[in-house]
Amino acid sequence: MKRFNRNSNDHQMLSIPGKDDFPRPSETKCGSNLMKMMGIFVACLMALSVLFSVSVILRDPPSDGIWAVSEHRVLEDKSLKVIGSEDGDSSQQVEVPKDILLGGLLSDGFDERSCFSRYQSALYRIESGHKPSSYLISRLRNYEALHKRCGPHTDSYNKTLEKLKSGQHGGVSDCNYVVWISFSGLGNRILTLASAFLYALLTNRVLLVDRGVDMDDLFCEPIPEVSWLLPSDFPITSQFNSLHKKSRRRYGYMLKNGILTNSSGSVMPPFVYLHLTHDYDDHDKLFFCDQDQTSLEKVPWLIMKSDNYFIPSLFLIPSFEQELSNLFPEKEKVFHFLGRYLFHPTNPVWGLVMRYYQAYLAKADEKIGIQIRVFDTGIGPFQHVLDQILACTMKENLLPLVNLREPIMNPSGNQKTVAVLMTSLNAGYFEHVRNLYWEHPTMTGEVIAVYQPSHEEFQQTEKQTHNRKAWAEMYLLSLTDKLVTSSWSTFGYVAQGLGGLKPWILYKPENRTAPDPPCFRDISMEPCFHAPPFYDCKKKVGADTGNLVPHVRHCEDMSWGLKLVDHTKDL
Ligand code: GDP
Repeated sequence: MKRFNRNSNDHQMLSIPGKDDFPRPSETKCGSNLMKMMGIFVACLMALSVLFSVSVILRDPPSDGIWAVSEHRVLEDKSLKVIGSEDGDSSQQVEVPKDILLGGLLSDGFDERSCFSRYQSALYRIESGHKPSSYLISRLRNYEALHKRCGPHTDSYNKTLEKLKSGQHGGVSDCNYVVWISFSGLGNRILTLASAFLYALLTNRVLLVDRGVDMDDLFCEPIPEVSWLLPSDFPITSQFNSLHKKSRRRYGYMLKNGILTNSSGSVMPPFVYLHLTHDYDDHDKLFFCDQDQTSLEKVPWLIMKSDNYFIPSLFLIPSFEQELSNLFPEKEKVFHFLGRYLFHPTNPVWGLVMRYYQAYLAKADEKIGIQIRVFDTGIGPFQHVLDQILACTMKENLLPLVNLREPIMNPSGNQKTVAVLMTSLNAGYFEHVRNLYWEHPTMTGEVIAVYQPSHEEFQQTEKQTHNRKAWAEMYLLSLTDKLVTSSWSTFGYVAQGLGGLKPWILYKPENRTAPDPPCFRDISMEPCFHAPPFYDCKKKVGADTGNLVPHVRHCEDMSWGLKLVDHTKDL
């Protein structure tokens, strides 16, 4: 591994702090008397809360054993939030429980122990103030009812399955389905599954999830009572591998070859394969046209494969427009809400998240996430990527400059502590950053601790422990206060969306050179759709789809991609 050479910005890092640069006592986190009094008050309150819990346990021991008792106490204690009046009158202080069900986004019909993350994740996030619309909440409850009525092995499911088995033509069905095929890296899978779910919601279909190698190992069931997993005896699962860009079951292939038409009177087969991966052709892309949506309504089974977050293009389909605007008054929170509704780590993955969080992140004053994904060929670490990480984090004041001349530590005992969570397939970037802050003091006196949970070296999509770690790391990144991600990476998009964080995105390096500027602050927390169609369905001509409506724009990390932004913002 190459050593980190000082770059042209080094003169900035070399200035020596004067006494004014050290935090004054009143600026430190425990410095003032007021803070001390508040500390004593909160400590008393916590002690009372613990005493109360203990007395409850002694009086009335629950039957679920020690695990459940201690877990319950964790929930109680952590959800304590004190609200006081402005004049500091403690008699008006009340305890407000944390919003564990995320403003009604999640329904309460689950056994907590089957999926701890569902009920605990809110305790580890700063309340963002992002609230789902009441319309989204009511549509989700309706969807849950539909899923219950049409889900695996219900009468309606069995009836519709008969159509598939017998090859009967489409037509009106009591229940219609979107089957999502597990495909591609984990970040891509999460984004395509959210896209498929929204499509199902918009078209009153039920979403069923191919479990692939490990979908059930990674994600809790999100819908109460009935599984979202495709039953293992689903008759065409064995054909999933043969559904690709050359398949004759493809919607695009059948349109192109006149096997079916997108005119309203045409007869439709019981299932159609929707090929929505990056290599889809112009006929497959007609999926994003209103006329085609009308003819697809008659197909009971839509089998979908995608590796793209295609939601931005759903916003360009006129018949979905009003519904989408009711569901998501704030356009840039679409994945944020869908992701928090759908993706709850299973208990083994939650164990990975929590053990790491408690051990390395919980106590820090500030948590910074840095997600490094390198798409260059060859084995890293690369010097230009390291230069870029340091230039971005220091120029954007995410990490402090270091004093390369003076090895003297700030003598104050109350320094701000910053935990930096780095994720990468490679350990080299982390080692350099960690060593930099170990070998040199910071200019600000802050204490910087740098951690990286794993370095798996290369992508191993079919391996269970590998995917568990990847999911845990995306989730951990989403629990940070500020996030730096890499261009083009769906791994980073998932973290920013779940966390409700607008990231700083590292520009994609060209010719193995650190870009200047190294990164930019994204305009939206939404993921980017990497392979959108460029077609005006009405005029039947090519069109720049990033220019049709104010809330669908081109992405800054991929100029031809599309993303949702809030059109109220000055762009
Ligand atoms: P993308 O390729 O960056 O868009 O993200 P994906 O998640 O779709 O695919 C990359 C895959 O590589 C991940 O799912 C992991 O399997 C692996 N991977 C990439 N970066 C990391 C990392 O920082 N940590 C871990 N544990 N795995 C990673």
